[in-house]
Amino acid sequence: MKRAACTALSLLLIASASVAQNKPRQLKPGFNLFSKEQDVQVGKEAAAEVEKQMEIVKNDQLQAYVRKLGTRLWSQPEADKYPYEIRAVNESAINAFALPGGQMFVHTGLITAADNEGQLAGVLAHEISHVALRHGTNQVSKANLIQLPAMLAGSLAGQSIWGQLTQLGIGIGANSLLLKYSRNAERDADLLGTRILAKAGYDPVEMARFFEKLEAESGSGRGLQFFSSHPNPGNRVKAVQAEIQLLPPPRPSPETGQFAQAKEIVKKLPAPKKVPQAAPGSGQPSGDIKPSARFTEYRGGFFTVSRPENWEAFPSQDGKSVTIAPRAGIVQDQGGQVAIGAGFLVNQRDASSGRVDLRRDTDALIKEIVASNRDMKLEQSSSSRWNGEEVIITRLTSPSPLKGETEIDTVMTFARSSGLVFIIMVTPQSAERDLQPAFDTMLRSLQLPR
Ligand code: ZN
Repeated sequence: MKRAACTALSLLLIASASVAQNKPRQLKPGFNLFSKEQDVQVGKEAAAEVEKQMEIVKNDQLQAYVRKLGTRLWSQPEADKYPYEIRAVNESAINAFALPGGQMFVHTGLITAADNEGQLAGVLAHEISHVALRHGTNQVSKANLIQLPAMLAGSLAGQSIWGQLTQLGIGIGANSLLLKYSRNAERDADLLGTRILAKAGYDPVEMARFFEKLEAESGSGRGLQFFSSHPNPGNRVKAVQAEIQLLPPPRPSPETGQFAQAKEIVKKLPAPKKVPQAAPGSGQPSGDIKPSARFTEYRGGFFTVSRPENWEAFPSQDGKSVTIAPRAGIVQDQGGQVAIGAGFLVNQRDASSGRVDLRRDTDALIKEIVASNRDMKLEQSSSSRWNGEEVIITRLTSPSPLKGETEIDTVMTFARSSGLVFIIMVTPQSAERDLQPAFDTMLRSLQLPR
């Protein structure tokens, strides 16, 4: 008996030891010079700025819906009791963002793009996690070690922190440190988001599924705004599923039942009125688009190409397309859509009928590109040789999304058995000389098996 009890006890110990190893990883905010109160203050000041520049949807029912959804999520202990607030803004780009301290904005484009309430809740839970883990002010702290302590001490006297941050060059624009997260921050926001969603009764896999769907479409530019501030940490569905295994069994609760209605409201809204000036992902490039002289290899699904080290790759999930661009070259155009002002795109499309015909399929492609870009003009199109094979090079011009610039788009097309492969090199006219050598290096490095 004694012996049996002993064995049972040791089995118990083994069991609890293995549970301990598989406990959910502890997630804590990192280094930060701001206090939590200062997170709240800076978020409120920045939100007032955003409200001036974006169009808040004037529909109480829709606002009540997103608040209801938000409340279900941020009332979970993992959200760390910040004074969260959310508003829907009339914006067609698929995005949502959260400022420090819990000021959240959800684009109507996200409501349109989500397949179900779980996906919408998923993005919000991910954003809430950035707030709770204080990723925004963590990054600002790390980047401004010298100036910040004195500045934040001064703000105790009632000065606006936001005003001072803008003097440090930290805005709410394209490259704002407050909203541009690292891959590690993304991974942690997915994990904490998973815990929040599970407790609130949503299936966390929907969050990962939505991000993957968005990624798959990002070659078309639809999800670029989101991914330019939230880089894909990779293997999202798997990571979420592994995390779910470590959590107590979920307690499913009914959805609000108002998701379809919210979509209907969005459908009937007028087109966005205000031109966003400084919404995240928009505005003038605050950084440099100039490519560095150092290159690194990028492997796509069917090609490899070298990219300048300071230009990032935004691949689509299927690997069929990639946009390689400097962050400062990705901006929001006047219609609120994300546009590439400088960059190198690789993509592939099926032949219009049966086998690829280089001339016919190129003409069809160029027609499509011209039709979908306002005021784009075809300047010239001619056959050329590249590595011993025939290619077509087409030069297009259009108004650049970068202020006051004309854009030059050079399209190169290649016939492959799998379809028409095309490369688009995008540059503002004034930077053509700076970018051309990099484009040349990229073209020379391009491996495009037949
Ligand atoms: Zn994120």
